[in-house]
Amino acid sequence: MLLRVIDIVAGTSVDGPHLRTSIYLAGCIHHCPGCHNPQSWDPSGGHLVAIDDLLDIIVREEMPVTLSGGDPLFQAEGVAALTHLLKDRYKTSFPSFRKGWGEADIWLYTGYRWEQIVATPRLLDAVRNVDVVVDGPFVQSLRDTTLLFRGSSNQRIIDVAASLASGSAIPLSLD
Ligand code: SF4
Repeated sequence: MLLRVIDIVAGTSVDGPHLRTSIYLAGCIHHCPGCHNPQSWDPSGGHLVAIDDLLDIIVREEMPVTLSGGDPLFQAEGVAALTHLLKDRYKTSFPSFRKGWGEADIWLYTGYRWEQIVATPRLLDAVRNVDVVVDGPFVQSLRDTTLLFRGSSNQRIIDVAASLASGSAIPLSLD
């Protein structure tokens, strides 16, 4: 399976805690006014990369990963396949790293709200193996540059496992 990738940046510190490998995926239907990267909306942007090649890059960098874009859930089926394999690869390749990373191995930024994701099977499948979802569109009137890892105050940093277990969005504790 292939994913359409705009860019891969290893060692970034702005897309979640710790140094991370960020993968920017093409395509977004949300078209938020004030979006920092409207070029990323193009569904045919970037270039096609095999999931196995992405896995090799992520594992070689030995860092936790963030999926951003665009909206990664525009390519929900590919993201489901990548994160499923990635979870498995982390367990076998980096059992000791996992401890240091806590449960924050895989972050995903999306313009969908959590409630829309859980109500839509193909989106829900794409986040089952993700640890943290930063949800919701960027809202210019709620822009706040003091917020950690998000652009506007409507966006939530959500603990996926806790939220799926409880049936509602549970914020991640960043302590
Ligand atoms: S969801 Fe993100 S990439 Fe898409 S329009 Fe909004 S800010 Fe831009």
